[in-house]
Amino acid sequence: MKNLLGSSIKDLEDIAINYGHAAFRGRQIYKWIYNYRNKKKNIDQIEILPYDFRKKLKDEGFKVGELGFKERYLANDGTLKLLLATNDNEGIECVGIPTEKRLTACLSSQVGCPMDCKFCATGKEGLKRSLKAGEILDQILFIENEMDRKVTNIVFMGMGEPLLNIDELLLSIRSINEDFQISQRKITVSTVAIPKMIKKLSTKSFQILGKCQFTLAISLHASNQKMREMIIPSASNYDIKNIIEDCRQFVKDTGRRVSFEYLMLSGVNDKLEHANELSDLLRGFQCHVNLIQYNQIDEVEYKRVSLKNLQLFQSRLFNNGIAVSFRKSRGLDKNAACGQLRQNAKNK
Ligand code: SF4
Repeated sequence: MKNLLGSSIKDLEDIAINYGHAAFRGRQIYKWIYNYRNKKKNIDQIEILPYDFRKKLKDEGFKVGELGFKERYLANDGTLKLLLATNDNEGIECVGIPTEKRLTACLSSQVGCPMDCKFCATGKEGLKRSLKAGEILDQILFIENEMDRKVTNIVFMGMGEPLLNIDELLLSIRSINEDFQISQRKITVSTVAIPKMIKKLSTKSFQILGKCQFTLAISLHASNQKMREMIIPSASNYDIKNIIEDCRQFVKDTGRRVSFEYLMLSGVNDKLEHANELSDLLRGFQCHVNLIQYNQIDEVEYKRVSLKNLQLFQSRLFNNGIAVSFRKSRGLDKNAACGQLRQNAKNK
């Protein structure tokens, strides 16, 4: 199957020419896919194309998008979580997070994940495979169609480790930026951090996209190496100090500040001594810490931190001169955490 989603205007012009049509037919397909972000996602619906060209595209196996709908879960606060099916019948999750002015799409980059973070339902299953760029982009169309709104912001914080799928990640970012017309500055790539890959991300981004303006968010979740390895066993091959060094270089290379995600786990990483240790690690560095309240899942013993403790931790970081904010968990009821909808569907 050939997925037209993710094709550039030039790709689509070439397809039209290859099938004996004028280049403008490719531009018509482009407009149909991206400008209208058509709900039906069916080549038959591109009525502006001659019938024989539509038929040829279908006969040759072209499609617009390749995911299927499986389940939806709407939380009380309007956050919509979708479980979608791939062609090989795997389930992947994506989430639409609305505010008055924004619709943020939280996208998956892999089916499952090899990183085995101890707090995460997705990590329990291991990696099945990486997603293709077209499958990543299809999640945006599903969210827009289900919520009847344009997506304005993208975060790669769903299932998977994006830096282990870097080529398809960057291909999807190209399309999100150029075709979906969402500025790179409104895209966040979140990673647990893989040795050598932070440098590779900026280098490849400049090579492939000509710029690197998206936000890099590191899932740090700890103030020292020992604690980090306990929460994220795969972190044992990348010392926390080396991660910070590589992030400092990323800031120099791109001019973009780095964001550090810190999931507050009650009794584990939430003490004021940890806030001080984290401040020492990050001092003098163009960065920002995002504190997150944990969405508890059944199979994991970690507990949600109290709001009072979170605020004390936040104040300590702030008083230590660290830029810090608190991200409220959205969709705070069952199925809110990454991987839970897929897990529940499998258990049924
Ligand atoms: S938190 Fe992210 S990186 Fe860690 S196991 Fe879950 S999906 Fe993978």
